[in-house]
Formats: sequence, C-alpha cells, structure tokens
Amino acid sequence: MIRLYCATGNPGKLREFQLAAAAGEVRMELLAGFKAAPACVEDGATFEENAEIKARHYAWLASPGEFVFADDSGLEVDALGGEPGVRSARYCGRHGDDEANNRLLLENLRGVENRTARFVCAIALVQGERLVGVYRGAVEGRIIDDPRGSGGFGYDPLFYHPPFGCTFGEASAEAKLTVSHRGQAMRKLLADLRTR
Ligand code: IMP
Repeated sequence: MIRLYCATGNPGKLREFQLAAAAGEVRMELLAGFKAAPACVEDGATFEENAEIKARHYAWLASPGEFVFADDSGLEVDALGGEPGVRSARYCGRHGDDEANNRLLLENLRGVENRTARFVCAIALVQGERLVGVYRGAVEGRIIDDPRGSGGFGYDPLFYHPPFGCTFGEASAEAKLTVSHRGQAMRKLLADLRTR
C-alpha cells in the first residue's frame, strides 16, 4: 500500500486529506515532528511555488525514500483582483484567524455586485530532495453576504457553490471533497503515484 506523509498544521485541511486518502486506499499520516519543526516562510508568488517551498522545507522530517506532500491553497475573488489569493490564511494580518478573515472579506465586498470567486489548491509531492510533481485543483463559486453552515473551515461558510445550491459550510465533508480544489488536486496526486 502506498504511504504518504502530510505536512500541514491546518486541522481542516488534514481532515480533508485523510478523507481523500481513505477514498483512494492510501495510508496517509501527519509527518512526525511537524509541529516542533521550525516554521516555513511562505514567500512564493503563486500557490504552486508556496506548495513546493513547504514540501521541501519539511521533507527532511521523513525517512529517506518516503513521499511527503504539502498544499498551498486559497480564495481568489475576481472583484478584488484575485485577492486574498496566496495571502488567504493571513488576509486580516494574523495567520489563521478565519473569523477575522471572513469579516474583512465581507467588508471589502460591501456593495460589490460581482461576487464570483474560486478556491485554488496546489499540492507539491517530494521524495527527499526530488520534486515528484505539483498538482492543481480549482472550484468556482460566489461569495455570499451572510455566512451559512458550520462545516469545513476558513471561507467555506461564505463560499456558495451553485451546483450544490448551498455553501461549502453547509455541504458534507464527503460532498465537498468530490468537487473541491483540494479533492481534485489530491486525486491527481494519487493517480500519478499509482503510475510510478
Ligand atoms: P495556506 O495554509 O497558506 O495554504 O492557507 C490556506 C488558507 O486559504 C486557509 O487558511 C483558508 O483561509 C483558505 N482556504 C484554503 N482552502 C480552503 C477551503 O477548502 N475552505 C475554506 N477556506 C480555504
């Protein structure tokens, strides 16, 4: 069975990766020592660059030959020129404050008619110093004015996905994964790994 090590400190992402790995019949574990490792400086200009920076930064924690992956993801809002983009986790100025990020997003969209947006995810897979691949997924939606649902994490309660007729905050984790940026990128990674 394929074994994968995940480098993320985000519990919302980890739950989704675990679900995707289980569906793909892959054994996935959080990289041991991840929490104690020095933090990674995510100074790339794109999701792909940041995903690679993260995966390479943490790869040394795994035993030689093991596969390690990390994702960089975020929300691109068309009316905001693609913001918050790679700054999604720290949009409000503090890393990982979902509530404040959501409030700021709504403030910046007050009175704005065009609400189209997409979630984007890039996952980088490394094996030691070798970059095996970078896999991308994206899903379209609209930003609504009032949060709906308590599922998921981050901007999910504000992200309305028309084919579902509800927000990602209202969708089940399983349903979200079938269409989400992270689900798409994970399925590409798993398909690639199976060919190796
Ligand atoms: P990263 O750790 O720099 O990749 O931060 C990603 C940030 O983008 C998260 O903290 C969320 O704010 C946002 N984000 C990414 N994926 C999702 C998702 O699936 N749902 C909601 N918010 C997301």
